Amino acid sequence: MTSADKKPIHVFMVSFPGQGHVNPLLRLGKRLASSGLFVTLSAPEFIGQSIRKANKITNNDPTPIGRGFVQFEFFDDGWEFNDPERDSLDVYIAQLELIGRQRLPQMIKKQEEIGRPVSCLINNPFIPWVSDVAEELGIPSAMLWVQSCACFSAYYHYSNNLVPFPSEAEPEIDVQLPFMPLLKYDEVPSFLHPNTPYPFLGRAILGQFKNMSKPFCILMDTFEKLEHEIIDYMSKICLPIKTIGPLFMTSKVVDSNSKHEIRGDIFTAENCKEWLDSKQKGTVVYISFGSIVNLKQEQVDEIAHGLLAAEVSFLWVLRPPPIENIFAPHVLPDGFIEKAGERGKIVKWSPQEEVLAHPSTACFLTHCGWNSTMEALTIGVPVLAFPHWGDQVTNAKFLVDDFKIGIRMCRGEAEGRIVSREEVERCLRAAVSGPQAMELKANAMNWKKVADEAVVERCLRAAVSGPQAMELKANAMNWKKVADEAVAEGGSSSRNMQDFIDEIVRIGSNHKAPRN
Ligand code: UDP
Repeated sequence: MTSADKKPIHVFMVSFPGQGHVNPLLRLGKRLASSGLFVTLSAPEFIGQSIRKANKITNNDPTPIGRGFVQFEFFDDGWEFNDPERDSLDVYIAQLELIGRQRLPQMIKKQEEIGRPVSCLINNPFIPWVSDVAEELGIPSAMLWVQSCACFSAYYHYSNNLVPFPSEAEPEIDVQLPFMPLLKYDEVPSFLHPNTPYPFLGRAILGQFKNMSKPFCILMDTFEKLEHEIIDYMSKICLPIKTIGPLFMTSKVVDSNSKHEIRGDIFTAENCKEWLDSKQKGTVVYISFGSIVNLKQEQVDEIAHGLLAAEVSFLWVLRPPPIENIFAPHVLPDGFIEKAGERGKIVKWSPQEEVLAHPSTACFLTHCGWNSTMEALTIGVPVLAFPHWGDQVTNAKFLVDDFKIGIRMCRGEAEGRIVSREEVERCLRAAVSGPQAMELKANAMNWKKVADEAVVERCLRAAVSGPQAMELKANAMNWKKVADEAVAEGGSSSRNMQDFIDEIVRIGSNHKAPRN
């Protein structure tokens, strides 16, 4: 409550149904609630079912967080859970828009009827139609951008045709965006590339840029010192950007001050603490490709063999496939578990923030999703960059060349190759049975001289114990310090967050009932 005699200001959030979208929105929601706002996080029912199951949520009661509340409100997207059309994201995005445009006003009306009128709508990218609904209802809206400001700039410049991008005629041109390193054609968010197999995802994101005049504010899960020139520039040419990240750190503070916890995990996280506790400091490689990327089985094999050959301890998230009708679950090579023994742990889903923050964790082999990138950067964990698509390829570029905390393992799905298959195979043979085995081990340092197309084993070794490891760790710890300052009282993200909350409270206090 903002005051004892007033109803709480109600912020209604709409999330695209993906873990990487729900997490930052919920983190923001918790922070807003801690300041006394009532927050509803809404998403399609099919993801709601997974969230409820994974987090053992058995009722619809709002959860008290600080001085406010957070509640979930999931909506039916018009399809049966087992409708085969769900397997096509292209078709699903259109369906979500069609139904969402109807359901959202109904949900907002219902909130009004039960005495909780909505003062502000917040959405994340991929569902730009939420800004239209907000405008139609006369409710102010904000957008939480869940990628880097560098990617925001790429989409903005593409959308407004401000610089040349790869095209069908010139698919391999480099892209120079203001205040950014030169991006090679495969370092630009891949959904913008003419050869992307996912043009509909590019269209969904670009839809937000066409709607850019509608939100009153763009919130971003990044922090000033990380991307300050790009943020300043984009704030001048587009809309003022409020950097409020790293949101996961903000929400950790909220969680630590709250008696209640509310989580949006789609899978149940397995306990990893005891196993990590049993390992020495700075010895474990944590491997996760986020919630959507599905590696080819062959690539899984290569990584598995690389891990054994590198003789590192590892915690590997081997998630069930995103669409079970299409992708077969991964299998590990015969005897892999036995060979890894105590050195390895495989889980279906991890408590990632906890794992990254554990002292045993040495580095993070990641697909470079923005949430994972921010988590690694700000917990101070070096990365092995293994991007796949979308913004991951751009994040990998920044992690390696700009933030300097990573080693690149590949350039993304468009490369169309299995990472260093020949190298890994050659190393495996040598390590398992060849006379070269000892020599290879002794000369591990020489692997650093191998060309850019790094092999799985070399990257793991270099990041855990190679000479680069110290430098990467130091850079990562430095970013952690800067991030800590941003979210601390008086820091840039903390000030921006407070400004935003003040703005919502001001809007909410003056807000009239939505138009019907
Ligand atoms: N995550 C997790 N446990 C896992 C794997 C991922 O909690 O085993 C979380 C991770 O901390 C991050 C999110 O899932 O917040 C993944 O988001 P990201 O943007 O990195 O990737 P996406 O899933 O969107 O590709």
